[in-house]
Amino acid sequence: MADVVDDATRSRMMAGIRSRNTRPELAVRHALHAMGFRYRLHMRELPGKPDMAFPGRRAAVFVHGCFWHGHDCPLFRAPSTRPEFWRVKIDRNRARDATVRKQLAEAGWRALTIWECALKGRDRLEPGQVMAEAAAWLRSGTGFSEIRGGRHGIG
Ligand SMILES: [Zn+2]
Repeated sequence: MADVVDDATRSRMMAGIRSRNTRPELAVRHALHAMGFRYRLHMRELPGKPDMAFPGRRAAVFVHGCFWHGHDCPLFRAPSTRPEFWRVKIDRNRARDATVRKQLAEAGWRALTIWECALKGRDRLEPGQVMAEAAAWLRSGTGFSEIRGGRHGIG
């Protein structure tokens, strides 16, 4: 990796890695648990190893970093170095996300994506709003949905 990644890109990558298990993500988890939702972390038996899986509701929740998953939002900035390298990599991640959703649906599961920008950055939502929208989705039986930063929230 040392020969293909410059310092700025490396720090962006590390920031992306550190965004797992962030405080806001843990706050959402703990709030859902306190509301009586029971989940398992990173179930290997499921496509995409969801961050949270709710077997009783056949519901999977992913918390996606906006850079790695190529989100169309202010937290995503295309790297200025080796843009083609990153474009291919991020396109591959997006394609894999789509495949995972399809495989989950085929297995009778539904999926919610909570985007990083809903949890941090200037467009973040109140943690209570993220939790309330996630809880509403879990109860609703709705198929694929997502929660993103900005005024619109769930979409
Ligand atoms: Zn985003």
